[in-house]
Amino acid sequence: MPGSRAYLDYNSSAPLLPAARTAMLAALDAGANASSVHDEGRTARRMIEDARREVAALVGGSPEHVVFTSGATEAASTLLSPDWLYGRAAVRMSRLYVSAADHPCLLNGGRFPRDRVKAIGVRGDGTADIAALGEALQGHDREAGLPLVAIHLANNETGVIQPVREIADAVKAAGGVLVLDAVQAAGRIPLDVAAADFLILSSHKIGGPAGSGAFVAASGLMMPKPLVSGGGQEKGLRAGTENLPGIAGFGAAARAAAEALPAMTRLAGLRDRIEDAVLRLAPGARIFGRGADRLPNTVFFAIPGLKAETAQIGFDLAGVAVSAGSACSSGKIGPSHVLEAMGYGDNEGALRVSIGHATSLAEIDAFEAALAGIVARSAQARTKAA
Ligand code: PLP
Repeated sequence: MPGSRAYLDYNSSAPLLPAARTAMLAALDAGANASSVHDEGRTARRMIEDARREVAALVGGSPEHVVFTSGATEAASTLLSPDWLYGRAAVRMSRLYVSAADHPCLLNGGRFPRDRVKAIGVRGDGTADIAALGEALQGHDREAGLPLVAIHLANNETGVIQPVREIADAVKAAGGVLVLDAVQAAGRIPLDVAAADFLILSSHKIGGPAGSGAFVAASGLMMPKPLVSGGGQEKGLRAGTENLPGIAGFGAAARAAAEALPAMTRLAGLRDRIEDAVLRLAPGARIFGRGADRLPNTVFFAIPGLKAETAQIGFDLAGVAVSAGSACSSGKIGPSHVLEAMGYGDNEGALRVSIGHATSLAEIDAFEAALAGIVARSAQARTKAA
């Protein structure tokens, strides 16, 4: 990050990795269409297939089951479809089951009509209510079609990791298809595509460029009808000339993320320092999802009497970039639907600190110093008002 600012907002977008930048520049210079049969075209094709291998390796999948898209949102919109193909045979998904704490790209239901989307609640710790999911799936009308279940693997606001095996068991028992949004989990915890039928990935959360992502199938036997049709790119599953720099940058980031996985324990140590600082400076603070299994890089907390939006501005002025809730919708800060789903309906918003590969101890110190100032000013304001 430029200058002396502390960038602690990796869950919004991780800073571009040098390896991703290098790969993107090479791809820009290649300047050819990967469908062309001449030498330049074949070079472009090689870059795409190299990236496909790297992305597959990150999730233990096969390169031929990776479909590149313009990001996770497009991948979700493609997969969340009632219309599928098993070979040439049409398969119908009659209902979509999502989690109430999902990212909006799942919660909005993709190509399903609203009345065909059911949101399953979460428990107080942010994990999916497995009993409710099982009950909903048991009541699913198989005559009308198969159940499609789409759920985040790790939450973008709290970092809470879902009980994937229990979810997969419930989906399997109902003969359904499971899509896991692994956007925030990728590069932070080991992933195995075999844990679900599909994983969704996003490049800019792992140090690649934004506007690039993929879905990865575990078997490739069943595929959704394409969202974007036209030319035969991506085996007809995503038409349009490939975004060569975006894909090459994503591939390089995937490789770096896989290599850096063992270093994630360092992040857990930094996260614990952040949490210790929060609880020391504001003993009444609440750290959401703390009782659950969480990503090593995310802290989501609220301090009673402190508006998250105000605090975020305070941090920004102090040179520390954090997020108030999720910042996926261009700066729009509203009540967190994730916290509401967890039973914290009356929240004044919460602050999310998310760290990554380049986070230093000095940045954590900067966070702590900024928080101390914010807490002190808030206490002064309350004293004056009393
Ligand atoms: N899913 C999760 C959990 C996310 O955090 C995000 C982005 O914030 C997305 C999906 C959307 O990803 P993209 O920006 O690649 O469309």
